[in-house]
Amino acid sequence: MKKMRLIVAMLLATALLLAGCASETADTTAAPVPTEAPGATEAPAATEAPAAEATEAPAEEATGETPNIDAIKEAGKLVMLTNAGFAPYEFLGSDNTVIGVDVEIAGAIAESLGVELEVVDMDFDAIVFALQSGKGDLGVAGMTNTPERAETVDFSINYVDSQQMIIVQEGSDITGPADLTGKNVGVQMGTTGDLFVTDDLEGVNVQRYKTGPDAGAELAAGKLDAVVIDAGPAAQIAAANPGLVVLETPATEEPEQYAIAIAKGKDDLKAAVNAVLEQLIADGQIQAWIDEYNEISSAESAA
Ligand code: GLN
Repeated sequence: MKKMRLIVAMLLATALLLAGCASETADTTAAPVPTEAPGATEAPAATEAPAAEATEAPAEEATGETPNIDAIKEAGKLVMLTNAGFAPYEFLGSDNTVIGVDVEIAGAIAESLGVELEVVDMDFDAIVFALQSGKGDLGVAGMTNTPERAETVDFSINYVDSQQMIIVQEGSDITGPADLTGKNVGVQMGTTGDLFVTDDLEGVNVQRYKTGPDAGAELAAGKLDAVVIDAGPAAQIAAANPGLVVLETPATEEPEQYAIAIAKGKDDLKAAVNAVLEQLIADGQIQAWIDEYNEISSAESAA
């Protein structure tokens, strides 16, 4: 039904655009909305024009210029796809809901659009495909903006600088990435840490886990020699597991940047996302949330 509505709305928008091109009328943006029922969602079909569906959006949005934002507003919610094992960016709070920096960011975006935020927790390596197949609006998951991923999804502006780090047991003889050869190294499946250990290092026995904390638990239990993961979660995993430390030498020299993933071509949504991110960055709000959720996450694991 929603698809039908969208198609009808798009056809209508196209028709309006064509009509606008054909005749330079004074008011091409005004849709032929029955004036007696402004904003009515279930208006009776207008007899003179197939405009009933267009009444669902305010007239200025029926131009087809913001189709993805219009669809989100119509649904009344913005759907964020994430993997809630990545503190301080996304993790389960004490009441088992997903909280963290990325949830705050997506909440600010939802608020700017006037809709609710829905958070869907899924495997990290399924997020890009889920976006492509329309299962959510935004991938907000501490996701590194890589050229490979940018072939299949669009990215917002970058909002966090990060790097891959190495977690080991205290007293380990591993002091840097070169020492990982021949070792059992845990990573989160499908992440840049996984790609680095798998593709850039020789002779590593790579063990893949669904979340970083799963890998951390295995390291703490002595079943792994090291875990390679992003800096933020690395610190949180070490804090949550006595006996684990993060090496000072990073795994990779290349810094990484987090960005929000959006299905390709949703330029209206991307612009709205970027506007909110720019403001949050300018206000120092993202760093404030990182500090806040690092504390919440540490307190949770100490409890
Ligand atoms: N930044 C890493 C990546 O994009 C890890 C992200 C994550 O595990 N949530 O691959």
